[in-house]
Amino acid sequence: MMRQYELVERVTSYDPEADEDLLNRAYIYAMKAHGNQTRASGEAYFNHPLEVAAILTEMKLDTATIAAALLHDTVEDTEATQQELVEKFGEEIASLVDGLTKIKKLDMVTKEATQAENLRKLLLAMSKDVRVLLVKLADRLHNMRTLNHVKPEKRLRIAQETMEIYAPLAGRMGMQLIRDEMEDIAFQILNPDANKTIRDRLKRLHAESGDLLREIEQDLTRVLTDAGISASVKGREKRAYSIWRKMERKHLALDQLSDIFAFRVLVETVNDCYLALGNVHQTWRAVPEKFKDYISNPKQNDYRSLHTIVVGPHSMRVEMQIRTKLMHEIAERGVAAHALYKDVSEAKLAQLGVRVPAAESNAYRWLRHLMEVLQEGDSPKEFLEHTRLELFHDQVFCFTPKGQLIALPRGATPIDFAYAVHTSVGDSCVGCKVNGRHAPLVTRLNNGDEVEIVRSDAQTPPPAWEAIAITGKAKAAIRRATRAAIRKQFAGIGREIIESLVSKQKHVLTDKELAAAVPRLGHKNVDDALAAVGRGDLAGIDVLKALGLNIDEKEVRASRRKIGGAKKDAEGRASLPVRGAAAGVALKIHPVTGAVPGERIVGIVTPGEGITIYPIFAQALEKFDQEPERWVDLTWGVAEEGMRFPARLTITLINEVGALAQVTQVIGEHGGNIDELQLQARHGVRDFFDLTVLVEVFDIRHLNDIMNGLKSRPLVSAVDRVSG
Ligand code: MN
Repeated sequence: MMRQYELVERVTSYDPEADEDLLNRAYIYAMKAHGNQTRASGEAYFNHPLEVAAILTEMKLDTATIAAALLHDTVEDTEATQQELVEKFGEEIASLVDGLTKIKKLDMVTKEATQAENLRKLLLAMSKDVRVLLVKLADRLHNMRTLNHVKPEKRLRIAQETMEIYAPLAGRMGMQLIRDEMEDIAFQILNPDANKTIRDRLKRLHAESGDLLREIEQDLTRVLTDAGISASVKGREKRAYSIWRKMERKHLALDQLSDIFAFRVLVETVNDCYLALGNVHQTWRAVPEKFKDYISNPKQNDYRSLHTIVVGPHSMRVEMQIRTKLMHEIAERGVAAHALYKDVSEAKLAQLGVRVPAAESNAYRWLRHLMEVLQEGDSPKEFLEHTRLELFHDQVFCFTPKGQLIALPRGATPIDFAYAVHTSVGDSCVGCKVNGRHAPLVTRLNNGDEVEIVRSDAQTPPPAWEAIAITGKAKAAIRRATRAAIRKQFAGIGREIIESLVSKQKHVLTDKELAAAVPRLGHKNVDDALAAVGRGDLAGIDVLKALGLNIDEKEVRASRRKIGGAKKDAEGRASLPVRGAAAGVALKIHPVTGAVPGERIVGIVTPGEGITIYPIFAQALEKFDQEPERWVDLTWGVAEEGMRFPARLTITLINEVGALAQVTQVIGEHGGNIDELQLQARHGVRDFFDLTVLVEVFDIRHLNDIMNGLKSRPLVSAVDRVSG
């Protein structure tokens, strides 16, 4: 085990200003906290955080990071508390440890290959401070190094996870050394046969050409020295995993992999890189199209180097990487290497080829830079694949109790979650638990939340949920379920109508009779036919005729006036596209009049409740005339595609069979949704009746189309907006 003073010496060797007292205290605190705990290997547990800290000293990280590394498992695995860490070590270190405690919980989650990308994003999203990620990578690296002590099943799982999540993450952060080591260990565990075959083959090649490597090394060095370039040339063994990956990617057999000889040429300056390249190309024939200039076009993770392949001495294809020592340092240690240069001036950094954004404090500008790197990715293709790591702005990741990862847009609710799991889960949802506690369904979910949906099969989703849900999938499913429920309701009304008519004939209707009559009515099944009666599309008298019964038609009409529609709440729509209200203020559309994009609107403030949106013509506005301070000027913004808005219409119909059908037909033909429908007998005027309909439309044009369509129908006498 590394001694206390050794660790401190390591830190002070690159950071003479380091707070030695802090390091000593963290060391002792962690050692005491872990006490007699042991690891799978039998060694003292404390050795683990200590090794993690040591890995981070190789990256020359700041004191807070090293202290956090020492403390990283204390809150999760010992009696230590977050509060205690704040008191003893301050907010900065405590919050780093807190980040590590949080992402440690992710290790408990079951992981499938398809979840890897999401998990990687979640990890990033939860690590507000990049140093949390650096400690996590070091933590994982040490766990990989000691993996042979772990049970085989767990070993496989950890290796898999490392291959899918942590190694790519290290790569994205430009930390090649960590990535390579993780991949090598994981490959050995996940694919021992392939690993052995490739290693054996490399060994044989090496034996056959052992001298050849040195010869080429010497030839290369001579060529460069003759040209006056001081360079160190090193033959480099390719790694089994990178060969295997290439074989997989290019569908090659091992024999076909030609460029197994690879050399790295390190020089002093950028100029020397190009000079060296020129000399190499003058001496040996370059393989066309294999030359890459990552110095003038660095990779997104700031990797810089010249790559070329030449047909070298002995006609061997030789792969070469030419770069400066600084470029090499950054290639291997990644952006962590930038920490080395925190005291160097901007100008100097630019000269060295390190890009840093201006106006950052010296110590942390590299962190900022790293975030940029993480947000971008390695190539334009990858850039697109990872959709700019949306996680930082517009995604949240939650878990089912079984550990399935569900990605949702930011602002999503448990309702969205339920529908994302499965439509049947959404349809039967009655409540939820978030992180083990009952929570309202309007809760906005956060990263890492575990969501359990409470279900009941008797449930149909209330239409109002459509306004609470934010995902298209949930909204569509709720609409579907609402339509089905309305249809069921209409079928119930239809059944009542038919039964009351039939009972007047002293006849008891059986379902069998009804089923037999259905084909004659042109409907598929009993429910369809009954719903048609309930909606007014089908006259009750026609059903009676089909049943072979006769009845006075006046009674049928009288019965039909009783039809009522499904009631639905039009309030509380999420994120209405309205400008002019302060952020965070609850907005709702006036439930009586409705309001649609394209028409002039105003808002009325109700303290403690929010703003109600009225169309300017609403009569209801009159009662606010004496309170000008409650008026807010609002304008419509751009609505999300497919978003609908309510508008209430009064339709006066001639009291004849089929009138109601014309209304539903016109609205349906124009793509309007009927949200609420009420028939009202008009007193004193026997031949007309009024109908109020709450329709859902996209905008004022859509509404006008529907109103004009209605007015053109012979049985429609008038159509007006309800003004409240
Ligand atoms: Mn650990």
